[in-house]
Amino acid sequence: MQLYNTLTRKKEPFQPLRDSHVSMYVCGITAYDYCHIGHARSAVVFDVLVRYLRSIGYKVTFVRNFTDVDDKIIARAAREGVDESTIAETYIAAFHEDMHRLGVVQADVEPKATEHILDMIEICQKLIQKGHAYATADGSVYFRVRSFAPYGQLSGHNLDDLRSGARVEPGEGKEDPLDFALWKGAKPQEPSWESPWGAGRPGWHIECSAMSERYLPLPLDIHGGGQDLIFPHHENEAAQTEAATGKPLARFWVHNGFVQIDAEKMSKSLGNFITIRDILSQHHPETLRLFLLTKHYRSPLDYTRAAMEEAETALRRAYLAKAAMEEALGSTKSWTEAPLPAELVVEATAIETKWDEAMDDDLNTAAALGHTFAFLRLVLRILEDKALRRTTGARDFLRHAMERLEGWGNVLGILLRPAAQFLSEVRTVRIQRRGIDTAAVGQLVAERQEARKAKDFAKADALREKLAAMGVTVQDTPNGPTWDVD
Ligand SMILES: [Zn+2]
Repeated sequence: MQLYNTLTRKKEPFQPLRDSHVSMYVCGITAYDYCHIGHARSAVVFDVLVRYLRSIGYKVTFVRNFTDVDDKIIARAAREGVDESTIAETYIAAFHEDMHRLGVVQADVEPKATEHILDMIEICQKLIQKGHAYATADGSVYFRVRSFAPYGQLSGHNLDDLRSGARVEPGEGKEDPLDFALWKGAKPQEPSWESPWGAGRPGWHIECSAMSERYLPLPLDIHGGGQDLIFPHHENEAAQTEAATGKPLARFWVHNGFVQIDAEKMSKSLGNFITIRDILSQHHPETLRLFLLTKHYRSPLDYTRAAMEEAETALRRAYLAKAAMEEALGSTKSWTEAPLPAELVVEATAIETKWDEAMDDDLNTAAALGHTFAFLRLVLRILEDKALRRTTGARDFLRHAMERLEGWGNVLGILLRPAAQFLSEVRTVRIQRRGIDTAAVGQLVAERQEARKAKDFAKADALREKLAAMGVTVQDTPNGPTWDVD
């Protein structure tokens, strides 16, 4: 597999250092609010990476932390008059709920910063001993950036450029404006822990150095996160760990791109901030998951209503194909002995090969989804061909196709529900989103059926028109009328 490495700025063949056991650390959320679509993208991208690595035979130990001590958590706790741990626990629970709905597999270890304070203090002490850090009069500890020559290599920043934009706040006691806090001396009303420098709390970056080293061997095979974390967070993590241990923090640095809302950068100040919960009140969670995989993970992804509806249409089509497969295989009608034409087998095999190639090429889920849909179109062509569909060749191919779909679905985390379940759930979501009154629709459909029985076709047509104007399509089946929303 080829994976793009932010550190070397190119795709490289990926191989774990230790046999076939991959160590992977991804920076998790700061638990002070509900997760937004940017968090969803990062979570789903790394979920697919873990699932894919496992599917090609690697064992993966995946660690994702929670930041549960931070300025934003402290501010929210003060505003709501509760303690910090209440805020953190509330939003960690909300994160788990959101991830469960999105089908994101839990990490193997989900450590919290506050449970690793001693590990962090130990790293600070090591860095001070080695001359890479120093304590100041206010009981803070800073990393001495100029003591670490490779600083800037991950983000590509040049120290002189950085220095020209940095400044020391009055009273900070830093030697150099570039130096960053490993430990912050206690301020009144803030949570603090005892340390060799007096009461204080950790800086943000140090927690990931502590928790990655605690749970995984160094260097990590993969360190992941959103692109916004490259600088300063990941640059600082890398500097701390390497300066303290003499080992690089990670071999592969993998970063996912931003999510934009209607082509604008999402931010709280612009007011175009969309939480996962907002989206899931309008869409099926699997639609959101599919949408998040429709672009390569390093590209920007633009969230729009139209793009979500496209994802929903694609997913419904895929599940309708799955329903047709389930129906054909479940049918008790007999099968005629005949092989599948060779050219169809060749076509299917070619798609399957391309699917693997796409995922091996830096986790190209966009291309893999395209191949999945092409494969389903091929299946439908076979099912719609009267001469072919009840042959043993078609039956064997359908069985194979179901397995293939399950394998791909397990990697992408889609198409795993029974078709009838998904189609019914997505219908409910669409009815709610369009604000359709199901009782009123049921009434009109029944009236139309009465009119048809009475051969009052003018009235039946008028009722059909009325329903169409509400966005409802009626279909007459041997078991009576059914309806759906456009
Ligand atoms: Zn981190």
